[in-house]
Amino acid sequence: MENFKFKKEFGQNFIFDGNLLSAIVSDAEITSDDEVLEIGAGAGTLTKKICEKAKKVVSYEIDKNLTEHLMDIQKQNGNLTVVMRDALKEDISEIEKHFEGNYKIVANLPYYITSPIIFKFLEQTNRVKSMTVMVQKEVAERFSAKENSKDYGISTIMINYYADVKYLRTVGRQMFTPPPNVDSALIKITPTKKEKAISDKKFSTVVKTAFSARRKTLSNNLAKLGISKTELEKLLEEMGKSPSTRAEQLSIKEFIFLCDKL
Ligand code: SAH
Repeated sequence: MENFKFKKEFGQNFIFDGNLLSAIVSDAEITSDDEVLEIGAGAGTLTKKICEKAKKVVSYEIDKNLTEHLMDIQKQNGNLTVVMRDALKEDISEIEKHFEGNYKIVANLPYYITSPIIFKFLEQTNRVKSMTVMVQKEVAERFSAKENSKDYGISTIMINYYADVKYLRTVGRQMFTPPPNVDSALIKITPTKKEKAISDKKFSTVVKTAFSARRKTLSNNLAKLGISKTELEKLLEEMGKSPSTRAEQLSIKEFIFLCDKL
């Protein structure tokens, strides 16, 4: 590892601090019954900590320069399987072949693909028990934002449509090597059975379109889907909302209602 060159394009910001690594594993509530998926092993510091607690650990890493180092760690941990592949491109079914039952995800996520990774697992499988992940602080704030706040938007609604999100702790940029330009936060995403729209895809389209121009009203934005403004305003009235309502004033339940009526 001494001569290792960190790659920005892979979102490489490693954690070496023992206390922080222990805190992440403790927040993830890993027990000896747990099977765990890690995305982005890096130098394997978090990987080793998870291996101490879990029954089985599968860790993906894209950077081939880390192969030898990670293979050494695999040799020292009988419950670890390192997979040198792109976790984003890998089929879920391929990843899940490694696990007998449902599994937990723990990761200091590569920031450039945070949302695609999270939504891949929320949308494509129901075998994930929880995701304890390090993300940019701004992303964590958006995920846990309240209605009517400036952070409340597409990602707030989409993540809470599938899961409960808990903001666990803020982690300063100086905790990473090399330090990124932003602070981070550890969050726990727990997929839960929730009220759903008739079609998840339609729901996502409605939400994205509703927020497409933040300063416009909801009905002006949704008119882009080819629905008449009068019809939209009538629906809003039915929901007890004013015709000038904006997207950030709608709860998830209200978005589901709207989506199913459209
Ligand atoms: N878990 C380590 C490393 C975190 S940095 C630690 O906490 O110190 C993020 C890691 O994810 C990097 O090692 C990077 O190479 C890896 N990575 C980036 N994109 C990836 C992808 N698509 N699939 C698997 N690993 C990826």
